[in-house]
Amino acid sequence: MAKFDAIIIGGGHNGLTCAAYLAKAGKKVLVLERRHLVGGAAVTEEIYPGFKYSVCSYVVSLLRPEVIQELELPKYNLEIIPLDSTFTPTPDGNYLARWGDHAKTRREIARHSATDAEAYEQYGQLMVQMAMAVKPLLGVVPPEPTSWNPKELFGLASVGNHFRQLGEKLLYDMTKLMTMSSADFLDEWFDTEVLKATMSASGIIGTFMGPRSPGTAYVLLHHYMGELDGAFRSWGFARGGMGTISRVIADAARHFGAEIRTSAAVDHVLVKNRRAYGVALDSGEEIPANIIVSGVDPKRTFLKMVDSQHLSPEFVEQINNFKIRGSSAKVNLALDALPNFTCLPGKGPHLAGAISISPSIDYIEQAYDDAKYGDFSRRPYLDIVIPSTLDPSMAPPGKHVMSIFVQYAPYHLKNGTWPERREALGDTVIDTLSEYAPNLKNIILHRQVVTPWDLEQEFGLTEGNIFQGELTLDQLFFLRPVAGWAKYRTPINNLYMCGACTHPGGGVMAASGRLAALEILKDLKRI
Ligand SMILES: Cc1cc2nc3c(=O)[nH]c(=O)nc-3n(C[C@H](O)[C@H](O)[C@H](O)COP(=O)(O)OP(=O)(O)OC[C@H]3O[C@@H](n4cnc5c(N)ncnc54)[C@H](O)[C@@H]3O)c2cc1C
Repeated sequence: MAKFDAIIIGGGHNGLTCAAYLAKAGKKVLVLERRHLVGGAAVTEEIYPGFKYSVCSYVVSLLRPEVIQELELPKYNLEIIPLDSTFTPTPDGNYLARWGDHAKTRREIARHSATDAEAYEQYGQLMVQMAMAVKPLLGVVPPEPTSWNPKELFGLASVGNHFRQLGEKLLYDMTKLMTMSSADFLDEWFDTEVLKATMSASGIIGTFMGPRSPGTAYVLLHHYMGELDGAFRSWGFARGGMGTISRVIADAARHFGAEIRTSAAVDHVLVKNRRAYGVALDSGEEIPANIIVSGVDPKRTFLKMVDSQHLSPEFVEQINNFKIRGSSAKVNLALDALPNFTCLPGKGPHLAGAISISPSIDYIEQAYDDAKYGDFSRRPYLDIVIPSTLDPSMAPPGKHVMSIFVQYAPYHLKNGTWPERREALGDTVIDTLSEYAPNLKNIILHRQVVTPWDLEQEFGLTEGNIFQGELTLDQLFFLRPVAGWAKYRTPINNLYMCGACTHPGGGVMAASGRLAALEILKDLKRI
């Protein structure tokens, strides 16, 4: 008899969440993580002494309130510090800021356009309504639209009914949002370029598309949802960095009895008669278990860890077609002092929120054009935070850490390799930001450049896609990761999936891990 009821491949925050729920239900669970620490893309690492980087993900917004509550995460010291403002400097020496204070934001937008300030209110209300309408879907297992099973039909009818109840206007707006580009959608609302560009950026994060690509308007909503509620009602920093979120989930999993092994890379899943019965590690060690749950992406799971003889050619083709193109990079800096922006000199609240280099839609679209043809953007879109302004434990006294999310950086380069061009990307990012904060080059103590290739090599993210697969409409809900297999089960009996590649997708939400565990527990009850 196997010692473990379940083995989870990968200690990303979703794998840990799945482990915690299974252990809480009394199952004997083992998590196997390839790296020396758990967390996957939600980690804090002290790359240079005293400076703590959230190496990959950097802000939290969508972490599911039910996970926080059911796993009692605050018990393990989870604290989210709200991130209130967005500040976008522009090349003409001006800027646009949006503050936590509603009236102040309105005045600031009115400084650029009185009609946009008015429209911003209405736009905000509409997005809140739409996000409220879509948000419940984050917590449900997608129904299978091709099935005649009464339960599936009921699930489908519930989703249909849910949307019908929105009323005519909202339903039409929702349809537009689902099909339009973020640029077109925002054009219907606003005139101010820098406002449209900064807002459109959340539609392209982690996706190999530009703001003028149809479908990006919906992704805009996906990112907007975190601004609404979640447990803490805002975007924020986890005190101690993003690794804190993984750490508290791991603490909860251990509390319920799960075992977690790091530096334990799974080489392949052991399968016999289309049934998974264990895993083999890189070291050759074999560990049997009744159930195997993969927290890694579908390409890695099915094209590397499962022998293709156990899968149908049709399924393998579906997995091959799954879009997982990397488009983003990170530059993490250790700073001797704070950056000084020409348009808003000195220290101030603008340094304690998100800083965005997104002066116009054309700027971002041109950044995408470079990537489309196989190069990183000459002038990239940057999303910057300085966590040490709110959480001094991230850097030595008087010093700072700066996290720069960079887009676009395509995984496939036309010229050269990423190890050869890594520092050139770093230079481009620093040159771009220095145009707005000229003291930057003089205050950099250390620089870490994380390319899509590094995300693949170090974090196991195929092609460096930050969401284990792009968040496009053709890869969401009952199509995530592929049609017919959106319920965390796979064509191999007893092999499940629980990572961001499953519904509801990427982001530090812990939703996939929870939903997968609940489905597994249902199956176990039936046995
Ligand atoms: C650069 C970057 C910036 C981001 N920014 C944000 C942000 O600000 N906010 C946000 O909400 N989201 C952000 N995201 C997305 C978010 O971090 C991810 O969607 C989320 O962390 C995915 O979690 P996961 O547990 O599903 O998978 P992962 O984090 O991918 O975890 C998978 C785990 O499996 C392990 N693994 C891989 N292969 C093996 C193997 N063979 N054996 C054992 N273990 C293995 C990996 O090491 C990893 O720990 C960002 C991601 C990146 C990369």
